[in-house]
Amino acid sequence: MTPITAWQKTLWAQLTSQGMSHATIFHGQEGLGHLDFALNMAKAKLCESQTESKPCHQCEACRWFDTGSHPDFQGLLPEDLQSLLPHDNLIDDVGEEVVIKNISTDDDKADKKLSQVIKVAHIRSMIDSLGTASYRSGQRVVLLGPLESLEPISANTLLKTLEEPPENTIFLLFTYRLDRILPTIKSRCRLIAMPKPSEEDALAWLSSQVASANLEIDSQNLLAILREEGGAPARAWQRIFDLKEQSYQESLQQLLHGLGQGRQVEWIKLSESINKVPLREILILLQKWLYDLLLFRTVGYAKFYPQTQVLISACAAKANTAKLREFLKAVSDSRKSENHPLANRVQIESLLIRYKNIFEA
Ligand SMILES: [Zn+2]
Repeated sequence: MTPITAWQKTLWAQLTSQGMSHATIFHGQEGLGHLDFALNMAKAKLCESQTESKPCHQCEACRWFDTGSHPDFQGLLPEDLQSLLPHDNLIDDVGEEVVIKNISTDDDKADKKLSQVIKVAHIRSMIDSLGTASYRSGQRVVLLGPLESLEPISANTLLKTLEEPPENTIFLLFTYRLDRILPTIKSRCRLIAMPKPSEEDALAWLSSQVASANLEIDSQNLLAILREEGGAPARAWQRIFDLKEQSYQESLQQLLHGLGQGRQVEWIKLSESINKVPLREILILLQKWLYDLLLFRTVGYAKFYPQTQVLISACAAKANTAKLREFLKAVSDSRKSENHPLANRVQIESLLIRYKNIFEA
């Protein structure tokens, strides 16, 4: 979820000062950041801080929101967009009982095609849950979109709820195709057009996204991509991001293979070849790999990288359980920190040296 952008600030200030009506539809062409805007709004509504400027990102409610576990928030998106909701794919506990929450491996994703519709069963369970009091005795927020991905039956179910809205519940809806939405739904909601940035603002935002992801793309190219995406910055960024992900995959494969060498890992060479990958990606992979080693040592199978079972079993046999647990905990802790510095060779090297040392000589 990206923060409110410069060109959304006026709208943000208006909405936060006036208070929100019970149902709002954010509309406009895809790529103007509807979802992120609505997510920021949902977080602000649930924030429990006394400060004026919400969300505070500090209080318990904000922390729950960021890990996808706020009990009074529901996000209903088609399956193929679910990963854009806040979620916690950290391995939380490395104690005796190792617990995994909400982790889907990349292999899971590749295997099945994700649905592009919002299923009526999800709408119904959302509505059922609104029949009970809110958990934090404050407001509840339901975020749902894009509305055009509702099946007709789901649209009617939603309509009934909007006609008799439950107390203390705010619906934040969004659509890229307002013309396709039932007039009866529209008439129950406040319609808000997502502001479109000037080319200059969009380019400035894109450049900052690119810089913070440690990428190098010159402004001529950025402008070309932005124009191809109809001036919609979030779409342009998504396209750049997808390309970047592809190039990371190769480096991450090298890392996986390197880790499979256990104590013999060629850490200097490996650090050099993966130092363009963000530290976050490296930590995620390392965390899953260490988890697999621990799992293999204790119950004899791997969850995340079963395809590398030969390497895992060889590494697991030589690992020192106490050191392995300790390292896994350290990696999990560093993943929890919000601000991941860009990876650099020194950091990667120190991770790999520590990794090397979990194995018995
Ligand atoms: Zn807060």
